[in-house]
Amino acid sequence: MTHPPRHEPASPRDLVGIGIGPCNLSLAALAHPLAELDAVFYEQRPGFDWHPGLLIEGATIQVPYLADLVTLADPTSPWSFLNYLRARERLFPFYFAERFHIQRAEYDAYCRWVAEALPGLRFRHQVDAVRWNPERDVFEVDHTQLDAEGEAEALGRTYTRNIVLGIGTAPYVPDPLKPLVDAPGVPVVHAADYLDHRDAVLAAGHVTVVGSGQSGAEVFLDLLRHRPAGREKLHWIGRTEAFAPMEYSKLGLEHFTPDYTRYFHALAEPVRDRLVAAQWQLHKGIDAGTLAAIHDELYRRTVNGGWPDAVLTPGVRVRTAGRIATTKIELHLEHLQQDSRSRLTTDAVVLATGYRDRPLDRLLAGLDPYIRRDSSERPRIDEQFRLVLDPSVTGAVHVQNAELHTHGVGAPDLGLAAWRSATILNSLTGKEPYPLPSRTAFTSFGLEEPADRVPQARQPKRLTPLVDER
Ligand SMILES: Cc1cc2nc3c(=O)[nH]c(=O)nc-3n(C[C@H](O)[C@H](O)[C@H](O)COP(=O)(O)OP(=O)(O)OC[C@H]3O[C@@H](n4cnc5c(N)ncnc54)[C@H](O)[C@@H]3O)c2cc1C
Repeated sequence: MTHPPRHEPASPRDLVGIGIGPCNLSLAALAHPLAELDAVFYEQRPGFDWHPGLLIEGATIQVPYLADLVTLADPTSPWSFLNYLRARERLFPFYFAERFHIQRAEYDAYCRWVAEALPGLRFRHQVDAVRWNPERDVFEVDHTQLDAEGEAEALGRTYTRNIVLGIGTAPYVPDPLKPLVDAPGVPVVHAADYLDHRDAVLAAGHVTVVGSGQSGAEVFLDLLRHRPAGREKLHWIGRTEAFAPMEYSKLGLEHFTPDYTRYFHALAEPVRDRLVAAQWQLHKGIDAGTLAAIHDELYRRTVNGGWPDAVLTPGVRVRTAGRIATTKIELHLEHLQQDSRSRLTTDAVVLATGYRDRPLDRLLAGLDPYIRRDSSERPRIDEQFRLVLDPSVTGAVHVQNAELHTHGVGAPDLGLAAWRSATILNSLTGKEPYPLPSRTAFTSFGLEEPADRVPQARQPKRLTPLVDER
């Protein structure tokens, strides 16, 4: 089926959003009151669905509920989490629940409430390509409408002046483990699909969880809680040197502020790359509450004597992996500090091996000649989260949660989603529908700031010299 059979309205849209995860849903919610902005958002999935495979009972999001889709940009918005509770007559129960970190399932339910009520969201629409049409000075967005089975039903093309890419991340499986994924017989699942396969994994004689991040910890805890005491038969391995806590000190969290994002963006590229690698504990560690719950559960299982049959080993890399007959898996392990090797036979594997940004380049192939790139061939992205394009392109392509290399660790953080969306809308409208704070952190990142960056309010007073020393 080739493009184009059906065209959207002839007059171009002001904005097409591609992908409706939390980031572009935040943008859609904040764009909603801007009547002059003609926007439409496309999502390939049938509805809003936030990490369904990991909505484990009791698992919470790692940011406070104020990091909803809108509040940190506009606390008066009708699309806030508190207004959702009011609409659901659950404000008083929430008030007494005194929960600053809500359950992941509740965050998903809140976002669904917004996605089901907001106009201009088109689900079952997969965007296939984006290109620039210099004759009409617009972008062309080709999309496929999918039927209930996910099969292509109709093709379409939308013309738009601007685009916001919010295509998020996809589960990642490291090469040594790839051979395991497709072979039938023994459950090998990425953590993203854990709940769909939980029963099969729990039924396995021995289970190995690979990956020492938040998902790995949550899956290990869930398995531990569901395995008989003394016969847990669990291994949890990860490459990091420790099952380390996520940075959560109040000053440490100031790395997730607009101030730090601006500071980071102004740094030299090699410095940015070094920092992203060094700051893994800011966004890749394990929530301290989950670590405590794991220790509590292990401790509880020693009360009647004996130790749980659960082996937790950090600093271990899976060199290769293979199947033994059709019922077992053998992991060839390497301990990075000991420089030792061993083999682990197991009956099921949960790959908590993380996520990677969905590649922009496939969607933007048609724009490639216009995209300016850095020394690592990554798209350059300016302070307003806009791709740096050839000046002949008069429209803008903004990105959400694809700018780790230019804006730092805040890129995937839900706490910065509303501020980023507001920044993009202020840039797109050329106005300031959402006045944003000039200061957001007690830490002053960096020594001097170029004069133009220090907002009037923070300009140091021009001190007239008291006595002329010269
Ligand atoms: C399990 C998990 C838990 C997390 N918990 C937290 C947390 O507690 N706090 C926090 O700050 N961050 C958290 N994060 C990080 C981050 O906030 C989330 O990954 C968040 O989902 C990112 O939102 P997004 O909108 O950028 O991307 P996604 O949620 O990945 O959404 C992108 C959407 O784009 C759609 N899409 C992609 N390509 C196309 C296309 N070509 N056409 C149409 N649609 C397309 C996808 O189907 C998807 O729905 C978590 C991440 C994971 C994986």
